[in-house]
Amino acid sequence: MNKSPDAHRMEKIVSLCKRRGFIFQSSEIYGGLNGCWDYGPLGVELKRNLKNYWWRVMVHERDDVVGMDGSILMNRAVWKASGHEDTFTDPMVDCRSCKARLRADQLVEKNGIKQRPNCGGKDLTTPRAFNLMFKTFVGATEDESSLTYLRPETAQAIFVQFKNILEVSRKKLPFGIAQIGKAFRNEINPRNFTFRSREFEQMELEYFCRAEEGMRWLDYWKEERLKFYENIGIARDNLHALTVPDEERAFYSKGTYDIEYDFPFGRQELEGVAYRTDYDLSQHQKASGKSLEYFDEETKQRFIPHVVEPSAGVDRTVLALICEAYSEDEAPDEKGKMETRIVLRFHPRIAPIKCAVFPLLKNKEPLVAKAKEIVALLRPHMYVFYDEVGAIGRRYRRQDEIGTPFGVTVDFETLGEKDPALRDTVTLRDRDSMKQERVPVKDLPGILVSRIS
Ligand code: ATP
Repeated sequence: MNKSPDAHRMEKIVSLCKRRGFIFQSSEIYGGLNGCWDYGPLGVELKRNLKNYWWRVMVHERDDVVGMDGSILMNRAVWKASGHEDTFTDPMVDCRSCKARLRADQLVEKNGIKQRPNCGGKDLTTPRAFNLMFKTFVGATEDESSLTYLRPETAQAIFVQFKNILEVSRKKLPFGIAQIGKAFRNEINPRNFTFRSREFEQMELEYFCRAEEGMRWLDYWKEERLKFYENIGIARDNLHALTVPDEERAFYSKGTYDIEYDFPFGRQELEGVAYRTDYDLSQHQKASGKSLEYFDEETKQRFIPHVVEPSAGVDRTVLALICEAYSEDEAPDEKGKMETRIVLRFHPRIAPIKCAVFPLLKNKEPLVAKAKEIVALLRPHMYVFYDEVGAIGRRYRRQDEIGTPFGVTVDFETLGEKDPALRDTVTLRDRDSMKQERVPVKDLPGILVSRIS
């Protein structure tokens, strides 16, 4: 069977991720662990840049948001009160023909009969609820009394610390608490590379407000989050804000948007922006017996705030960034012959390496010394990479393939050997246009910082 161009594209992306050290299968030498992934030297940089930029715009650049970092293990009572213990489930069916286990919503319907897409099996068990939380035991005994779960979302730590943070931050409504951290879900069918994993990271904001302002903040955050994706280099045309229909929303939510991205394997959710009303805080107040109310000094009223939650997946966004950036074009090789060039067109803000520095020749000591001097000049400002191996064209190609937006070459002109006016200038090459400009070394940090921040 011929693969679709999109399936082919996805295969190339997965293979590039492994070949260049973005993403590896977890425990690979033991055959892997389904739904778990490791980020290699470039993947970890990309992920960090994404998280840092999210933190910058969601926390540092705002007066109304503070951060926190909660523990992954929490008292089991949290998961009872939040409803996760009873209802955080997916309906699961078994196919009796091929013995596969899958989510009931992944079945396809042909002539009114549900069947498994791969084998066409129609002999299916009735759907039963499968809880997605990983169980674990805290302490030396393994019984009900020591049972808890790996958190399936980061949000609950924010709700249960609401009162502490309100007191220490002295914020007034509306205000938000942000958190980035790991979450775990025992997904029935992890798939589409890192898209649906069993261990993943979330970037979540709980934005507390008055009940009457909930719908307005929901729309505000949807727009802010769309802007965020554009600011990290995702084209607006590939982003979609889906209004989740009433029957698909959580019962306590008054409105939810799914921000979706056109992945090569289809349009899928990147982030949920949900107006969760006062459900979470009310549940925890009821279950813990501790007040989670807000006191309004002006009106002298006490009430439980409502909350709007933009909840994004780090791994899904990293995957979207790679899919968006992947491209192939034509560039001349050393002999001027056109060849296919693989380029990751990352926005400079999130590119793993910002600038590569090359001495023209590795066996010319003054060129090498000058290049290393430039590396030292740039390092306090950004992640730079020094490379002296191979022809310049090949060195550029290696950087194009990992998305490095800028390349600096130190040549004999830099040393002032040809034209004294060009002493201490270098060529600065742009990854996308492949244009080169001559710039003074002393201006490099300023020029580059302005282009990557
Ligand atoms: P889905 O419908 O795809 O299972 P969800 O609606 O259950 O996702 P939420 O509970 O809203 O997801 O979680 C918020 C975000 O966390 C998602 O938009 C996604 O980016 C991320 N996320 C959730 N589950 C996973 C997963 N299994 N792997 C990777 N990221 C995930």
